[in-house]
Amino acid sequence: MARYIFLDRDGTINIERPNYVQRWEQFEFIPGVLDVLRLLKENGFQVFVVTNQSCIARGIVDEPVVVEINRRMCEAVRDAGGEIARAYHCPHAPEISECECRKPAIGLYERAAREFGFDSSQAWAVGDDARDLKPCRALGGRVVLVKTGKSAGYEKGFWDIEPDYVADDLLAAAKLIIGIENTGG
Ligand SMILES: [Mg+2]
Ligand SMILES: [Zn+2]
Repeated sequence: MARYIFLDRDGTINIERPNYVQRWEQFEFIPGVLDVLRLLKENGFQVFVVTNQSCIARGIVDEPVVVEINRRMCEAVRDAGGEIARAYHCPHAPEISECECRKPAIGLYERAAREFGFDSSQAWAVGDDARDLKPCRALGGRVVLVKTGKSAGYEKGFWDIEPDYVADDLLAAAKLIIGIENTGG
């Protein structure tokens, strides 16, 4: 059975930078993440990256640069034996224009489910911020918070959404999800 997982990018896959990842040279995988993506592929997961990149609307990074950074991320993952089915980004900034794609909106999660033909209520989401988790919860999926980025100091009750699970990092989250799926949960 196919398995589906939405991953946040900054703070979940790569180290969060104080003022956005503006060039590929600033993109640094969190240690172990490439192995995790291989593990997910070996266990039959299709992985979708969904990332808010308001740096585009704010004029800090050109959209083709963001697209290129995501392409190189996918390439590095493939070279390490993993696979990202597709990386989606929202280029908008809330104070400049409203959109349907900036997390916590569900737009990009719905789009992935439509493009790849799966039921999003069967999906998982992993991220370091409440807004990564809300779309998947809204669509009926299960959500795991990782404490590698914005949420390092997370405690229960911080947000208006409680994750189904909290994990130290993506490896711990992946092991948890694989374990649940393998026991038919
Ligand atoms: Mg993040
Ligand atoms: Zn958007």
